Amino acid sequence: MADTQSIKDRVDVVQLIQEYLPLKKSGANWKAPCPFHHEKTPSFMVHPEKQIWHCFGCQKGGDIFTFVQEMEGLDFPEALKLLADRAGIKLENNFQNEINKSQKNRIVEINAKAAYFFHRFLMDMPTAAPARDYLFNRRGLTTATAEQWQIGYIPDQWELLTQYLLKKGCGIDDLVASGLTIKNEERRSHYDRFRGRIMFPIADAHGNIVGFTGRILVEKENSGGKYVNTPQTLVYDKSRVLYGLDKAKKEIKSKDLAVIVEGQMDVIACHETGMSNVVAASGTALTEEQVRLLKRYSNNIAIAFDADSAGENAAKRGIDVAMAGGMNIRVIQIPAGAGKDADECVRKNSQVWFDTVERATGVMEWYFKNVFAVTDLNNPKSKQTAANTLLAEIAKIPFAVERESWLKKLAEALGVDVSVLHDALKKALKAPAQSSRGGSAFSGKARPGEAPTAPVEVNLSGSQRSRLLVNEFWSLAVKYPGIFTSLFSYLKPEYFADPPWSALYEFYQKQYNNNAPIEPNDLSKKILNDQGEDLIDLLYMQAEKDHADFNEEAAKKEAQIILADIAQLWRKNSREELARQLTTAQAAGDKTKENEILKLIMDLT
Ligand SMILES: [Zn+2]
Repeated sequence: MADTQSIKDRVDVVQLIQEYLPLKKSGANWKAPCPFHHEKTPSFMVHPEKQIWHCFGCQKGGDIFTFVQEMEGLDFPEALKLLADRAGIKLENNFQNEINKSQKNRIVEINAKAAYFFHRFLMDMPTAAPARDYLFNRRGLTTATAEQWQIGYIPDQWELLTQYLLKKGCGIDDLVASGLTIKNEERRSHYDRFRGRIMFPIADAHGNIVGFTGRILVEKENSGGKYVNTPQTLVYDKSRVLYGLDKAKKEIKSKDLAVIVEGQMDVIACHETGMSNVVAASGTALTEEQVRLLKRYSNNIAIAFDADSAGENAAKRGIDVAMAGGMNIRVIQIPAGAGKDADECVRKNSQVWFDTVERATGVMEWYFKNVFAVTDLNNPKSKQTAANTLLAEIAKIPFAVERESWLKKLAEALGVDVSVLHDALKKALKAPAQSSRGGSAFSGKARPGEAPTAPVEVNLSGSQRSRLLVNEFWSLAVKYPGIFTSLFSYLKPEYFADPPWSALYEFYQKQYNNNAPIEPNDLSKKILNDQGEDLIDLLYMQAEKDHADFNEEAAKKEAQIILADIAQLWRKNSREELARQLTTAQAAGDKTKENEILKLIMDLT
């Protein structure tokens, strides 16, 4: 596959993975906590020279394609398209066919064509004048912003877009699957979902357009609501998308903060005024998927919400989800009179907005402030209500030390002994999860940042343990081949009888016997593990992960210790095996066999 190689040449595995994980340099490699299993000590390694990655915890590994497949939940054609787009490579025909096999890809393509159509219509067509007036005069947007966000317009007609896209060669079934076209079963006809609306394309984190929000331009009866969104499709799931993330992710990472606002116009206004670490969870409370998406770029979020109570409830649900996800959360409160939302605040006075974000308070401070504003400290009932409300919030904090410090603060504020609250908190912690938390995927495992209370004792069986030891021995021997030569007389081929180690041992032994230099990279044929990964590459990476600070001498000492363990385990396993054979031979009354086995057992000790 010439094309996959040309993509690999242009997309650096370290740069790619860095967009998802906080990679740290480790010897010649990079490492990070693995995104595919729960761990505290990083065992996820990236090898820049070989352009591969591997996790020594869960054994997942591969190249740039397998990484985005795992990370984004894509199949191969989708990963191919994503990385080709990123590399700026126009794929050859046979690959284009491969890509078009995926309906997901075809829908993304249709969305891109539709966004272009809406945008050109807004900018060029005389009948779009009222839409331009609304956006550029009344809402104060610049044409550059409309360009950047590909804002568009579709007039109030029944099948303008559907006809356009059919002429462009799109299939009607794909148009229906994209959500842009609706099928009328009775009349066996098709019509546009979006009519007479300002169109906002919604992109995923990579800038692929996955759906649209259409805002009505002239409200009238039966126009189907102020906002219409793309329904759930193969590529659009509103709980997995954050509006503006493709444009905000870089800044979120460099500022180490994501600002979350309510609507699309809020996002656009913030970016326009120069604050570009801003996204919106359009129309929903923040979901677990969105929190996970954000965590790729930062653990810190500041949430702004509209003054109305509906907005506050949605934000509160979002806060719970983000908290369970181990995020640091602050709350942005627009001062009275400065505007009802971010968009209005920015347009009135952008400096006020910047200051407001700067002054965002911690979420618990915010709860305390709100609760104590309505608490009468002379009234025991009122105090109890305050305690109940705040204990419920404190119980949601996934970190024990932090929980404790808020508990102390609450005790002080209420003028009660902290031990009273401890008991109450214990009850709150045991209480079943609130419905607002939903079936949190976070709550099933150890809460992030906190060690699981009862660590599982892994009792490795003899063979599992010897596999680990053999693996470790070879990782040292691959990085420091001199070890093999100096320890040769202690090495029994039987220690390495299983593949893939037998092949490695054979090669080393042959070189040793021929007095040839041992250089594992000179293997005539690659040795692959069960998953088809290059064994030598993996062993190198493992040595760098575990023994980056070793020199040849330290490595040799370590290898000796490991080898002693291997030998001991091998003797133990062999004795057990021979004992089993002995029982069988005795049961069969095979005296010769029995004596043979007894002799072997004697030799072992
Ligand atoms: Zn892993």
